[in-house]
Amino acid sequence: MSDSFDLIVVGAGPGGYVAAIRGAQLGLKVAVVERESKLGGTCLRVGCIPSKALLESSELYEKSGKHFEERGLLVKSLELDLARMMKHKEGVIATLDGGIQGLLKKNKVERFIGHGRLKGKGVVEVAGESTVTLTGKKILIATGSVSSSLPGIQLDHDRVGTSTEALSWPEVPKHLVVIGAGVIGLELGTVWRRLGAKVTVLEYLPRILPGVDEQVAAEAKKIFEKQGLVFRLGAKVTSAAAHGQSCRVEIDGSEAIECDRVLVAVGRKPCTDNLGLEDAGVQMDKRGFIQVNSGYQSTATGVYAIGDVIGGAMLAHKAEEEGVACVEKMVTGHGHINYSVIPGVVYTEPEIASVGANEDALKAAGVKYRSGKFAFAANGRARAAGHTDGFVKVLADEVTDRVLGVHIIGTHAGELIHEAAVAMQFGASSEDIARCCHAHPTLSESIKEAAMAVDKRAIHS
Ligand code: NAD
Repeated sequence: MSDSFDLIVVGAGPGGYVAAIRGAQLGLKVAVVERESKLGGTCLRVGCIPSKALLESSELYEKSGKHFEERGLLVKSLELDLARMMKHKEGVIATLDGGIQGLLKKNKVERFIGHGRLKGKGVVEVAGESTVTLTGKKILIATGSVSSSLPGIQLDHDRVGTSTEALSWPEVPKHLVVIGAGVIGLELGTVWRRLGAKVTVLEYLPRILPGVDEQVAAEAKKIFEKQGLVFRLGAKVTSAAAHGQSCRVEIDGSEAIECDRVLVAVGRKPCTDNLGLEDAGVQMDKRGFIQVNSGYQSTATGVYAIGDVIGGAMLAHKAEEEGVACVEKMVTGHGHINYSVIPGVVYTEPEIASVGANEDALKAAGVKYRSGKFAFAANGRARAAGHTDGFVKVLADEVTDRVLGVHIIGTHAGELIHEAAVAMQFGASSEDIARCCHAHPTLSESIKEAAMAVDKRAIHS
């Protein structure tokens, strides 16, 4: 094995491994340094993928228990085997990890297991079973992020834990308190509610899902409450700690809650500890994010950074795009991301998906826009499937009609949103979408109808 490379990528999450493969495709000799035995980063090991496995399984459980009967499907006895559900989730992770290993091999990317640390210009020291020193013409930091917490919270990573622990609890909590009504809190809160836990979600702000279109978030709250989630908004958690098998959560100005598990889901912070960044001259901002220029170059020559560690939307697909753009810029001088067309999805049921600006952002920017809305209750396919909650909202420039944002709450919203993303990438107007023939009966017709509604000519509402 050689120890001299064109590019050394530190971190094999979605940003890092994708950047490594793209670099290899462009002819670079690439090494990837990852301290975990599994590749794929938080997303694959303890994030997007395991949470989706549990969301799918718990949805099947809830549906077969509560909704099959109305379709004439009588399930005589239904039992939860949580250990098996967890085993299925682990199997999904193992298969995908094997897939990434295969991709790295196929692209001749060399993999080093251990903690990578900058050790002078162009040098990365890897502390694994033994210590290896690598040299690289360029170094790319793609170390992602870790869960953050709050003062007063005593994380024991068991009873009081983060998303990592909440993906592997050995039994269903009787009462789970989730701190934070953001994406993680709602996705994992939904999993455990479906499996039988009482779930109370404490949120500091007067609304759930900050960043999501306000009308969509308000609709989501109503639906999740109907499903059984209990929200306490304006609740500032001051402390949380376990004592034996139970936990106590204290809230500013209101009664404390006793429960048996706490999930702390109050955001994530960049993972930059012990990387040797300061010594290498890599500047970080006040919140610890690595500062980069438009080519993802840090303040240290030859050191680049992408993904969660540079801030912006903490999304796997944003990191992947940055990985590709960064490496393409290194090699060809060109590389581009359209940051205004990065979709976001919350994988609850209904799903919540958006791309582009929401109404608050457009109002704040003083942009004049028209809005078209269409409810899934008026969509034939949604009716047949029994998923009538939610709507599509299309926002288009008042003068040019160019689509500025699309927001969907509804079943399969996370798949539907990409029609809007592609349309926006090509600079489509709402009329372009409205005049595009959509197959009947499909959920996608709701996007066409919402686009027609921008011009007040939706047919089915
Ligand atoms: P988040 O920022 O989405 O939500 C955190 C919530 O905690 C906020 O609503 C905040 O107001 C609340 N909060 C903060 N302090 C509080 C306090 N003292 N008491 C009560 N509430 C408090 O963070 P997250 O849900 O932890 O997710 C972290 C990151 O991971 C996000 O950037 C998210 O986009 C990303 N992520 C994305 C997905 C997805 O795309 N499906 C899934 C998981 C995570």
